[in-house]
Amino acid sequence: MNITQAIEKGRLCLSASDSPGSDSQYILCYVLDCTVTYLHTWPEKKLSEQQNIDYEALLLKRKIGVPVAHLIGQQSFWSLELDVNAKTLIPRPDTEILVAMALEKIQLGMVVADLGTGSGAIALALASEKKGVHFMAMDRSLGALKVAQANAKKCKITNITFWQGDWLSSIANNKLDMIVSNPPYIASNDPHLKRGDLRFEPSSALVSGQDGLKDIRLIVKQARLALKSKSWLLIEHGYEQASEVNILFQQAGFEQVQCAKDYGDNDRVTLGQQPL
Ligand code: GLN
Repeated sequence: MNITQAIEKGRLCLSASDSPGSDSQYILCYVLDCTVTYLHTWPEKKLSEQQNIDYEALLLKRKIGVPVAHLIGQQSFWSLELDVNAKTLIPRPDTEILVAMALEKIQLGMVVADLGTGSGAIALALASEKKGVHFMAMDRSLGALKVAQANAKKCKITNITFWQGDWLSSIANNKLDMIVSNPPYIASNDPHLKRGDLRFEPSSALVSGQDGLKDIRLIVKQARLALKSKSWLLIEHGYEQASEVNILFQQAGFEQVQCAKDYGDNDRVTLGQQPL
């Protein structure tokens, strides 16, 4: 079987996936240890017997729903290629708007906390752009923190301190210059949890009580104490949660509360400023 035939085989095998063509190409690149450009440059190149076996085994796993990111152990986010496994959420392009909004407001010398860092995606993306800023990346899960720390090492990023915690409960009042977070925000009975990649991701990173807002409620409340005056809180949420999250920010006393859309044009990030 050559590269063209392998991609065709993948397309047929994964016809139930949303993206059979690109899934097949990513999996094949992983097996051949090559880039997508290589696949197009050498379409006639034959797979070895072992490569055939490995490719087919991965296609079968993908067919039963295992996320591509878990099969190849990687996901790109912002400008970074991150290692991922089943201990963390798979970074999504939706979250890049949170990074872009935070970058607009981050200034030299700040201390910025990323709550529920998972694979480290947000903190690493910000830290890669802002070398003169100190980041604190928190997660409750030690398994996730290990992944995040390994990613920092891989990306040679040194301006992040990692800590295990329960949101902001161990942070003293009036300490932080910015808080960013992509917390769990899915309602426990949401049918999406039984579909697609979500079935393979840790529910601790996805589910937040009956209405999906349990953790956001807590973070908004705690952030009012932890943030310095005039500092910003930015939280990612579900596309239908913007008005409820807006109310939570307003009730807590945040000012300039606004919502930003992701690149899919969905309401995705709410931000607010701590009063003077
Ligand atoms: N963005 C994810 C999804 O809906 C959920 C992530 C989260 O709960 N933080 O697929």
